[in-house]
Amino acid sequence: MRALVLSLIPCALLAQTPTQNPNIKPGWRWTYDSALTVVNTVRAGRSLKPASWPDGKRVAVLLSFDADNETISLRYGDPNPGHLSQMQYGARVGLDRVLKLLDQYQIPATFFIPAVSLRITPDMATKIKASGRHEFGIHGWIHEMNMTLPDSVERALLKRALDEQMAITGIKPTGYRAPSWNFSPNTLSILRDMGFRWESSLMADDSPYEILQNGQPTGMVELPVEWILDDAPLFDPRGNNYMNPRNLALVWMDEFDKAFEEGSMFILTMHPHVIGHRSRMVALELLVDHIRKTAGPRAWWATHGAAAEYVRKTANLGEPRPRTLP
Ligand SMILES: [Zn+2]
Repeated sequence: MRALVLSLIPCALLAQTPTQNPNIKPGWRWTYDSALTVVNTVRAGRSLKPASWPDGKRVAVLLSFDADNETISLRYGDPNPGHLSQMQYGARVGLDRVLKLLDQYQIPATFFIPAVSLRITPDMATKIKASGRHEFGIHGWIHEMNMTLPDSVERALLKRALDEQMAITGIKPTGYRAPSWNFSPNTLSILRDMGFRWESSLMADDSPYEILQNGQPTGMVELPVEWILDDAPLFDPRGNNYMNPRNLALVWMDEFDKAFEEGSMFILTMHPHVIGHRSRMVALELLVDHIRKTAGPRAWWATHGAAAEYVRKTANLGEPRPRTLP
């Protein structure tokens, strides 16, 4: 029953559920050193914000689409055809609308896709590849929640996801986004061991930064996200926080305007099964229009990978550093 209840909660909100592990001691029983160790396991290091973006552009605009589809239900074993149909909408209808808009303005985007989602609807890969502008990122095997998994299982699922995605797309992805941004204390080690160059699930800044592991530089680029800049939490018509898409577009426009003013970066996370509905596509269209009118040629529309490699170069970050195995 719990699995079914959980499956009704939007993907994004699940990541806010605290880890319910009775073996974890509350913080007031920790020593100060224990607190420091936990905080330093994965932490933001130096900013990689460039003085300007390519060709002197002032702001980077990175659109990402997490094509989760049915894996939102499947990860908890939910066999409800109604729930599955709501998610199938993403591949069946939403993705085409998204790609049409991106084609209209020649905008590149990054598509993070769980391997099982891609396996269920492999023609998503063909559609996404058609323009030659877009990029694939890894988004887990079946949208698993990393915080609930031991290292060995998280590692095995990610390896399987990488192999599966490469088999279907023919492309080796360089970046990762944790399903529901659920990044475990083991995730960074796994990403480093598997040769990822950037990741996009953490939230310590508005601009790119280097991730530190146990206080040490890793050479791994973080492209930070935020729930403010995600379509899922406020677009659940059965939730308590449903927001008029046109009003939500105003929030995103304000986020963009500050990013433009500060010369930083604007990342928006969306899902074809969420944003791909008619009234919500209006919100995305309003946003794209606003960015084009406000920044014009001073906006750099880029994939996550292109942005990560640009800041790696401008910040003299060098290559990702191999992890010293314990
Ligand atoms: Zn997702």
